[in-house]
Amino acid sequence: MIYDCAIIGGGPAGLNAALMLGRARRNVAIIDNNKPRNAVTHESHGFITRDGVTPAEFRRIAYEEVLRYPSVEHLQTEAVDVRKNESGFFEVLGTSGLLVQARKLILATGLKEIFPEIDGFYSLYGKGLFNCPYCDAWEMQDQPLVLVSESPAIFHTAKILLNWTKDLVVCTHGRSSLSDEQKTLLQSRGIVVTEQPVAAFVGHNGKLEHVRFADGTELPRTGGFVLPKFVQAAPFGERLDCERLDNGGIKTDGVGRTSIPGLYAAGDTSYFNPSQVVFAAADGSKTAMAVNLDLTEEDYG
Ligand SMILES: Cc1cc2nc3c(=O)[nH]c(=O)nc-3n(C[C@H](O)[C@H](O)[C@H](O)COP(=O)(O)OP(=O)(O)OC[C@H]3O[C@@H](n4cnc5c(N)ncnc54)[C@H](O)[C@@H]3O)c2cc1C
Repeated sequence: MIYDCAIIGGGPAGLNAALMLGRARRNVAIIDNNKPRNAVTHESHGFITRDGVTPAEFRRIAYEEVLRYPSVEHLQTEAVDVRKNESGFFEVLGTSGLLVQARKLILATGLKEIFPEIDGFYSLYGKGLFNCPYCDAWEMQDQPLVLVSESPAIFHTAKILLNWTKDLVVCTHGRSSLSDEQKTLLQSRGIVVTEQPVAAFVGHNGKLEHVRFADGTELPRTGGFVLPKFVQAAPFGERLDCERLDNGGIKTDGVGRTSIPGLYAAGDTSYFNPSQVVFAAADGSKTAMAVNLDLTEEDYG
């Protein structure tokens, strides 16, 4: 069978694309390995009607809704390769020899985060340490927090965080990523700035207790944010040689079409930032409409 559209990635972007294509009576295969990036967190925030939902519950509801449409299939497997064959169809190869052929392909594989290597980080990530203030700062408001980043984006995030707490320590982790002017401005707002490398995050049951610096000093904190670098979670955009944005995201025309005819990208994999469930779902929806329009134009002119 040749599907109208294959979607690699069944997160909010891929699932909303599948929902719209299913409603448009298109044959769709969602290829997903069920490794959502936000699985580490207890609650997802900021999506109206779903504020505070667990990522697992969000997925459960989404799959239940999407699979009500009889032309949508969920193939739970890892895509390992993609190519365009001589007939112009996309072929997605999965583990265990699965081969899916489709007229159109949506990449909705999301991001991978690369965090600075700091002892204790992963035992607290998604519980006491997070990467996005809009997602998780409300729950830690007015608490003593730390912000760690090697990137110049630390300046912007530090200012934003003042809306949630005035007790903030900003740490560049051994880098000189803040100018003297920026340091002075942050300090004038009561923010403590340090350039010391962080040796470890120390906590218990997911709750941060203190930050240990390279010189052995310890700073009591109850939570915080660490800013990662973002990279593609899957190599398919690169493999199909589509144009990229400066930040590494897959360049689209704003409604999902990439530089490769018939290939679309939706959600975090496309724009990288801001990384939000509601943005990804909306992007999936827009992309599905572009796919449906392009299929219609091909079939009926
Ligand atoms: C700790 C944490 C907390 C967050 N909290 C919030 C929050 O509170 N509110 C909010 O709006 N956003 C939050 N986010 C961001 C949000 O999770 C993302 O913006 C959103 O999930 C992006 O959706 P997506 O569909 O683009 O990608 P993803 O949700 O990352 O989905 C990508 C899917 O592709 C699949 N996949 C990847 N590669 C392959 C492959 N080779 N084969 C098959 N399948 C593959 C993955 O298994 C996954 O299911 C949080 C993120 C993290 C990490």
